[in-house]
Amino acid sequence: MTLTSFQPPKRLLMGPGPSDVHDRVLAAMGRTTIGHLDPEFIRLMDQIKAHLRAVFFTDNDLTMPISGPATAGQEATIVNLLEPGDKVVVCVNGVFGGRLAEMARRAGAEVTTVDQDWGRAVDPEALRAELKRVGPVKLVAFVHAETSTGALSDGETLAKIAHEAGAMVLMDTVTSLAGVPVRIDDWGIDACYSGTQKCLSCPPGLSPVTFSKRAQDVMNERQAPVQSWFLDLSLLTGYWSGGAQRAYHHTAPVNALYGLHESLVMILEEGLESVWARHRRCHEGLVAGLEAMGLTMAVPAAERVPELNAVRVPEGVDEAGVRRRLLEDHGIEIGAGLGPLAGKIWRIGLMGQSSRPENVARCLAALETVLQ
Ligand code: PLP
Repeated sequence: MTLTSFQPPKRLLMGPGPSDVHDRVLAAMGRTTIGHLDPEFIRLMDQIKAHLRAVFFTDNDLTMPISGPATAGQEATIVNLLEPGDKVVVCVNGVFGGRLAEMARRAGAEVTTVDQDWGRAVDPEALRAELKRVGPVKLVAFVHAETSTGALSDGETLAKIAHEAGAMVLMDTVTSLAGVPVRIDDWGIDACYSGTQKCLSCPPGLSPVTFSKRAQDVMNERQAPVQSWFLDLSLLTGYWSGGAQRAYHHTAPVNALYGLHESLVMILEEGLESVWARHRRCHEGLVAGLEAMGLTMAVPAAERVPELNAVRVPEGVDEAGVRRRLLEDHGIEIGAGLGPLAGKIWRIGLMGQSSRPENVARCLAALETVLQ
């Protein structure tokens, strides 16, 4: 048995997440642990909720981080909003839309899907047609930025179509939040979850969620209790929104929340418009460099997620070998394709702190060397 401390290698994280974590966030997480019911900690929780509202562009009272990866936030939105027999339409254009559909089925909902080619945005007219075909549904769910393919859907338009049909809207912003504009209130999104390890540039393990007043009313009128005790928002809010009466629910990940707080402060200091513009500029630089090398992008220009770039693997090139050499010889992590895109694309992330012009240049130079 080796009893030495683990020393992680130095990497540049340019895959589908996690992204690079700034020293300020790591330093914040290294500060003294205090009790999760300490009045000072409760002050921090209030600030985190306020900062999350600013990043989500919402006034939603029910806005907080769930203790767990983004999958926990995803499951929380589904199991709190849906009851057995509810009708749901899920737009599926990649892995994470597929998971939304599966979670809704497991919650007992009657699910139909709008299936889209992987690598394309969700077609708003296909959603409109499906809603017309199936009649009234409780919820429409979709992924804003499909990390498995790099396709960005038009959240505002999809939400509008869902609302016209009387449905609530659930949007996944795991890869989109703080990378491209996300405007929860302006777009009328009723429920949304994200993750800390992408453009928020924190370590993985927390999932910010936000719910509209309408969604809260629906949850308050449930016939049956939520089948998950841990993710039941009516119990969780006793801790996150209980004011002076805040009560123990679970032991919050205190130091992870210090990290999230610091990363939100950094994003708000820079300003969201500037953060979005930085992601856009880095994406344009990367695409120009890749195309100059003769590589091609897998997603049409108008439908690309700037922070997740899907690049076609040229014929005859060893897809996994290239990623291995980037990691071993250059310390750069990029991602592979998933599902039907496995072996066909690389996924180059430019998320949060990783989205810097110097990283674009370093990645392009390394890729050119490896492909020679
Ligand atoms: N949704 C999307 C769009 C994602 O990209 C991911 C993870 O990559 C998830 C959900 C699940 O996040 P996590 O792995 O943190 O549970």
